[in-house]
Amino acid sequence: MSGMFGPKLALARAAGALSRRSGRGGGTTLPGRLLLRLEPDAISRLGTRLVDGSVIVSATNGKTTTAGMLAAAMRAVGRVPVHNRAGSNMSWGVATALLEQPGTEGLFEVDEAWLPGMAKELEPRLVVLGNLFRDQLDRYGELERLADEWADLVEALAGQTEFVLNADDPLIADLGRDRDLARRPGVTYFGIEDPSQALPELQHAFDAKHCRRCGAPYVYERAFVGHLGHYSCPRCHADRPRPDVAATRVDLEGMRGSRATVRAPGGEIELRLPLPGLYNVYNALAALTAAVRLGIPLEQAGRALGEMEAVFGRVETIAVADKAVSILLIKNPAGANEVLRTLLLEADATGNGHGLDLWIALNDRIADGRDVSWVWDADFELLAGRVRHVACAGTRAAEMAVRLKYAGLPPEAITVTEAIDDSLDRALAEAEGQLFALPTYTALLELRTMLAKRGLARRYWA
Ligand SMILES: [Zn+2]
Repeated sequence: MSGMFGPKLALARAAGALSRRSGRGGGTTLPGRLLLRLEPDAISRLGTRLVDGSVIVSATNGKTTTAGMLAAAMRAVGRVPVHNRAGSNMSWGVATALLEQPGTEGLFEVDEAWLPGMAKELEPRLVVLGNLFRDQLDRYGELERLADEWADLVEALAGQTEFVLNADDPLIADLGRDRDLARRPGVTYFGIEDPSQALPELQHAFDAKHCRRCGAPYVYERAFVGHLGHYSCPRCHADRPRPDVAATRVDLEGMRGSRATVRAPGGEIELRLPLPGLYNVYNALAALTAAVRLGIPLEQAGRALGEMEAVFGRVETIAVADKAVSILLIKNPAGANEVLRTLLLEADATGNGHGLDLWIALNDRIADGRDVSWVWDADFELLAGRVRHVACAGTRAAEMAVRLKYAGLPPEAITVTEAIDDSLDRALAEAEGQLFALPTYTALLELRTMLAKRGLARRYWA
């Protein structure tokens, strides 16, 4: 069996080369898929090559961005990890990276549901866990089951794997509680400490209301993004751990990004982040904490983050016709709420806060999660009184329009056109200056394809 491994690798590599030559860019994880079919143990076998260890990053929101940030920090000190392509975060994405990239160190973003399996195969040196939000429940079942699986995983890896955990997410923070300190490498926590960034009240998309230990409802002193915040359990005192790495001051600067003071055990830096929103501050804290644990100086890691471009077009502003189009991916209530807050902040800063032009594309294909009822949990009410025109697009354009009417938008401000291209053209024609485009995942892919056909994409998405 093992003697056949070489030829299987060669075959999978050849399939990848052939797929690329035939111009099917989407075939990028084909080699990994083929290899895993030929050799189900391929990941653990190829993983033995990673003698300098591997890092796994997982979260409901932000894993691609966090892994991209950490990769930038590693490259800044001359370390080039084997790193799966943005968004290819299931087993075949990991297998493809191992097959095609040289290197002795791994950095993998891994889908939440795939985390336990991938971690067993890769035996990572470090696991970074950012958050657990309600997301695509039709795929995974309830949040608590996932949290239980992650808890089992942490238990299994304790003593050999180090963890970087979000102190502000009670589901994540709890994974590191009661870890036997004698069995370190142990746990490093990160979190936000600037009370001025707190939400005025808890959002619809509030997922983790109850203590995992005793079932009592958490008491929140403040929340920053969804259920991420400063909480305590009134019954068993499973309170938020004090973060080792913290953003002690945050200034959000709309679409342009944000600034933060980040305190870590080794010192303090002023971080300039070219990505907007408090959610990206969390991603940056996760990446910086991981970088420090991997021996990268905080200063250098911070500088690398300051110089990076948006990952996978999650926030891009491009010129289409004579309009500026800012593209922000939406995929679940908590993420959508952050996007809405960010674009309202930006609109206020530029003075067109009462006449926003929007394009919202809601698809219900498999990669979006077939169940789009999450739009009812996102706070589109924030848009009431703020929108001049909104074009609804995608396979569920009509439902999106209904949601916006319930959110208090006037029906005459809403148009419905399912086709992505026709709808975008209409939105562009209506927009006065800037258009905010909010697509779900597969709608973003359709948008990219459409812009590529019009000769616009290459410049913006490498
Ligand atoms: Zn409790």
